[in-house]
Amino acid sequence: MKICPSCNKPYDGHPAISRKDDRTRICPDCGLREALEAYANVFKVVYTENTFDVENAKIGDLVTQGVVENFMNCMPPASMRYDCAQLGEPYSHERDPETKKYRATFLTFKCVGNKTWEYCGHCFRGENKERRS
Ligand SMILES: [Zn+2]
Repeated sequence: MKICPSCNKPYDGHPAISRKDDRTRICPDCGLREALEAYANVFKVVYTENTFDVENAKIGDLVTQGVVENFMNCMPPASMRYDCAQLGEPYSHERDPETKKYRATFLTFKCVGNKTWEYCGHCFRGENKERRS
């Protein structure tokens, strides 16, 4: 029995290799999901350091690795995993609907593979769901 680092669920059998870093072993379900996401992203624009404008970015916009590295070089990241990067400085504070407490949000990107990242908006630490209201 192995634990998938992507969905945190146990699985049996042969792992798939994540496209996000071509190294991490994930469960077959996540492997299939990543393949489908990668296919959908083939048709989308990928913004570069010269074209990405964070003020006008929309959730789901794709950016190059260079855009994420530029942000992360500005200050130490709040969170940096193989599949998720969060800018070090809080952007705002939003109420967590589960705990009813205010928590800091961070500018967040998630890796979708092939040195491409997806803009996720402003999320709590360790998450990639837009929380800004
Ligand atoms: Zn999984």
